[in-house]
Amino acid sequence: MAMVKKRRYHLEHRDDPLEVIVRGTDILNEPLLNKGTAFSEEERDQLGLRGLVPPKVTAIEEQVIRVLENYGRKTDPLEKFIFLASLHDRNETLYYKVLTENLMEMTPIVYTPVVGDACQQFGHIYRKNRGMYLSLNDKGQIRRMFDNWKQDEIDIIVISDGSRILGLGDLGANGMGIPIGKLALYVAGGGIFPCKTLPILLDAGTNNQDLLDDPLYLGLHQKRGSDEEYYALVDEFVNAVQDRWPKALIQWEDFTNNHAFPLLNKYRDKVLCFNDDIQGTGAVALSGLLGGMRMKGEKLAEQRIIFYGAGSAAVGIADMIVAGIVEESGMTEKEARKLFWLIDSQGLVIKNGSRPLQDHKVLYARDEEPIDNLLAVIKSAKPTILVGVSGQGQSFTKDVVQEMLNYSEQPIIFALSNPTSKSECSAEQAYHWTDGKAIFASGSPFDPVRMKGKIYVPGQGNNMFIFPGVGLGASICQAKKVTDAMFYAAAKTLAEMVTEEELSLRTVYPDLRKIRKISATIAVGVCEMAFDNGLAGIERPADIAAFVEGKMFQPQYSKYVAASE
Ligand code: NAD
Repeated sequence: MAMVKKRRYHLEHRDDPLEVIVRGTDILNEPLLNKGTAFSEEERDQLGLRGLVPPKVTAIEEQVIRVLENYGRKTDPLEKFIFLASLHDRNETLYYKVLTENLMEMTPIVYTPVVGDACQQFGHIYRKNRGMYLSLNDKGQIRRMFDNWKQDEIDIIVISDGSRILGLGDLGANGMGIPIGKLALYVAGGGIFPCKTLPILLDAGTNNQDLLDDPLYLGLHQKRGSDEEYYALVDEFVNAVQDRWPKALIQWEDFTNNHAFPLLNKYRDKVLCFNDDIQGTGAVALSGLLGGMRMKGEKLAEQRIIFYGAGSAAVGIADMIVAGIVEESGMTEKEARKLFWLIDSQGLVIKNGSRPLQDHKVLYARDEEPIDNLLAVIKSAKPTILVGVSGQGQSFTKDVVQEMLNYSEQPIIFALSNPTSKSECSAEQAYHWTDGKAIFASGSPFDPVRMKGKIYVPGQGNNMFIFPGVGLGASICQAKKVTDAMFYAAAKTLAEMVTEEELSLRTVYPDLRKIRKISATIAVGVCEMAFDNGLAGIERPADIAAFVEGKMFQPQYSKYVAASE
């Protein structure tokens, strides 16, 4: 056989910047390029692969069958996670084909709840590098380090400092599972090209003593430092991104709320960024409530709403609902906020209490006497909606849930804390305790519940309904910033995509299997908003829907085509 020359190839029909100048095992070891047994005879000759893969050329569909057969042998969810992560690290196209076609089964594995276990075990199950780690030790070097990342085009960066991973607290560098998982959902659900995603873990230490005592922990073995040092590191990161990948959207993910709000406020008008825990959660929860309003035939402005938990998620959701009430009823923001009662670990959030309030709670502080338990706040506020975002599993007891029936025939009960163990109550509890009257949704998925011959399908207020579409839209029109109005529009779009049939099963969210259509529709709305408000960095295309569709990655192999020399 003739010697195979190293030549430049590109992938036919792919709007990504991948070019191949490697050959043989280098291609097989590069997950963005690898097709495994699916390389054609011609490609095997051209790329120096003959003999390195078994003789039979297989279609991707056959590879999918093999993957699912092996996946099915794993009974432990964490083993399933590891299996999928290994596939991700071996062959990205096949991974995304499998994930996209099995979203209902696999989203809970690659994201919450199983990603929570994976993060807790991160140093113990670690196999291969993915993404970038920036630590306090790298001060002054981040821009140079970004040159180590070989892709010159990045659309989306998801960054976490690991300080508040799901409802699991400070997991330090173990938090890397979250940016990786979120970006997998971006690709599967939003059609972002895999090679244009970058997960980053900002390692500013950890205050989790168990991790510091764990010899296999892979992050800095030191406690978190001063805010001054922390903010300087984040600033260096933001500046380095602007220089290396000026078009990249930065998604802030799972930061403690004492940093999440200041970071969002500092950068939201300067660079293309958003915080999913605040804005994405706000939009997805608002959408669920709008679905609940459709079910009940009521308006948001008629509701009284208790938030159990008063952190990033609570205030993100509350702000989004306020925007909804203002738009629908003409109330002022101040009037709308009177419909809210927020409860944190110290009790009802009130003005003139004995403790100083964090800034993000101030606008929702009520002029009331202190009340220190949920049931008492419910009795006093007489709510129609109860939203759990406290990270306190099983805090919606039977008494709490049944008390809600005194104020609404169909109380809305959203137990949004993640992972499942932190859910304020389960779907089964909510339906059984209210004889099926509750309109329930959760943060982590619950199975449908059968009761008295009827099936109740609990909705999952999964941020995945919102962020891939918003990120896709903002990135392809090269928006200058992501606005709250874009999230609000996304919430309304999502709520309108719930069918009457879904509502009849008491679910307030559409079927997750429609995610690509949902993301594309949301992206169209985001692009339109950017074009209408002078925020887009490109010319307005004649057909925005076709433009969005054409920009979405499809998990199919492309042919390797030699570049002309
Ligand atoms: P956070 O740390 O910012 O806020 C937690 C809040 O809960 C704080 O106000 C805290 O004071 C309060 N709290 C703690 N213990 C309490 C207690 N015993 N009683 C009352 N309040 C208590 O966290 P966050 O970002 O707001 O997230 C909270 C939870 O919501 C997490 O479990 C997270 O996974 C979940 N979440 C779900 C979604 C979703 O379903 N789409 C999105 C974002 C966050």
